Amino acid sequence: MTEEPAYSPPAALLEALHSSRRPLLIAHLSPDGDAIGSLLAAGMMCWHLGKDPVLACQDRIPINLQFLPAQESIVDVVEDDDVDLVLALDCSDRSRLGGVYLPRRHGRLPLIVIDHHPTNDYFGQVNWVEPAACATAELVYDLGVALGVNLDADIATSLLTAIVTDTRGFTTFNTTPRSLRLAATLTEAGAPLGRILETAFNNRSYGVVRLWGRALESVELEDGVISVVNSKRMRTDLNGLIRAEGLVSFLLSANEARIAAVFTELPEGQVEVSLRARPGYDVATLALALGGGGHTLAAGFTMVGKLTEVRAQVVARLRQAALTTGT
Ligand code: 5GP
Ligand code: MN
Repeated sequence: MTEEPAYSPPAALLEALHSSRRPLLIAHLSPDGDAIGSLLAAGMMCWHLGKDPVLACQDRIPINLQFLPAQESIVDVVEDDDVDLVLALDCSDRSRLGGVYLPRRHGRLPLIVIDHHPTNDYFGQVNWVEPAACATAELVYDLGVALGVNLDADIATSLLTAIVTDTRGFTTFNTTPRSLRLAATLTEAGAPLGRILETAFNNRSYGVVRLWGRALESVELEDGVISVVNSKRMRTDLNGLIRAEGLVSFLLSANEARIAAVFTELPEGQVEVSLRARPGYDVATLALALGGGGHTLAAGFTMVGKLTEVRAQVVARLRQAALTTGT
């Protein structure tokens, strides 16, 4: 079984990639399954083509993705002066590249963007952005076809993990017939669907479970907006743990909720805001207006401020969004 390409990489992208010997491939900070899966699959495709890529991501790979093949080759510091091209994966703006992109060194190199966020601001010289794709990995699959790379089990595992996580196990509204056909193709190529689902979703530390408990103590629901805070104080005994992974989607499962928000107090005076919405509502517009981005139903941003004040301000705007939109 094979799946026909649905999208075609721009000729300029193929040209740039063909002439690169040592591309720097970057997945976004606070990476998720699509970022890491796309990074690994693109990296392996480069290896198949005899290239010597650098795979980079500023932040730690989440525990539920640490089973992925070749993930140990991802670096969080780029010291290499030899890279000749930058390829951004699943990043909707330049800030998402994080500290592995060094403007002074990398700014003069060609920058290629492969992404599926509707809020993408086309920050590359070549931008391949397809908002209808369920995951950036869907495009990376099509890139592999265009490059004539053989779909081995490791590439298939990376791509399927990306698709499975970005569609939350084929439950999001951007899951298409093609997402399912691709999943079948990737499974046939050797990707272990059952293991991927199990590892991606039933896999969190006891610390995260305790953090969910503490954060849930702060839950509030106003005009369909459900929210919690995740404060530094809640995490003092949790060994450097920061994010209550998965909690924002859980919040949205409350019947009364239209929009869900988790406010995470970061170490240095910033608050990370993670947003989810039910179909018919939109959280991307507010996230974009506040310096972040994402998808209509899943978006986020980080802002400077005190936890309680950021929550009050943002919830007020979300209540407006929950009252004025929706079908
Ligand atoms: P999450 O809540 O899972 O961290 O993010 C949900 C979605 O919003 C993802 O598609 C993610 O890439 C996007 N997102 C989250 N935070 C930011 C941000 O600060 N900037 C941008 N551009 N996108 C973000
Ligand atoms: Mn994605």
